[in-house]
Amino acid sequence: MIIIYPHIPQIKSNMVQTRDFIDSLSNEFEIFEIVTPENDKLAYHDGLKKIWGKDDIIIIEQDVLPTKKFIKNLIECNHKNCGAPVLLCESHTGLPRKIRMILDIVMTDDGLNVARWAELPWGTEYANSLGLACVKISKQIQLDTMHRFLNSEFYYPRIDEGIVRLLNTKFHVHYEETVEHNCV
Ligand SMILES: [Zn+2]
Repeated sequence: MIIIYPHIPQIKSNMVQTRDFIDSLSNEFEIFEIVTPENDKLAYHDGLKKIWGKDDIIIIEQDVLPTKKFIKNLIECNHKNCGAPVLLCESHTGLPRKIRMILDIVMTDDGLNVARWAELPWGTEYANSLGLACVKISKQIQLDTMHRFLNSEFYYPRIDEGIVRLLNTKFHVHYEETVEHNCV
């Protein structure tokens, strides 16, 4: 298991807790950092390309704060691809309260596939996508998608959507521990 830690070069105050959490995992796990300068919209995907297919991974994005128990649960779970309904901040969604996030791929009347942030109904066992914020992605599905993954270019901030479409799999949802999102 490799922990993937994508973050901007200069950690902001709302990202300090996550950085400290990553530091606390570094005795037990290999940490693969992906530095994402704001002017390099491909940095996130380029970083993932370097590690794709090498091992099972857990992504912990720069402002997302899971617990150690949650990480342990993901690792011990028999499902290949799992994740958290991260509690997305009000300032991120414009909604009056935090929502448990899901990236919903929906078919519109004119037949287009569009992605949108939506609320995951409590108790949903499998979700089409939880975004990339805090997910486990198995080595097997990385290998299965390797060719297309390496030959795609997913630009931030549409990378979640791009990878979700590429993986085209259900994610097992874990509710046992709350995964927080530290907004600015
Ligand atoms: Zn699971």
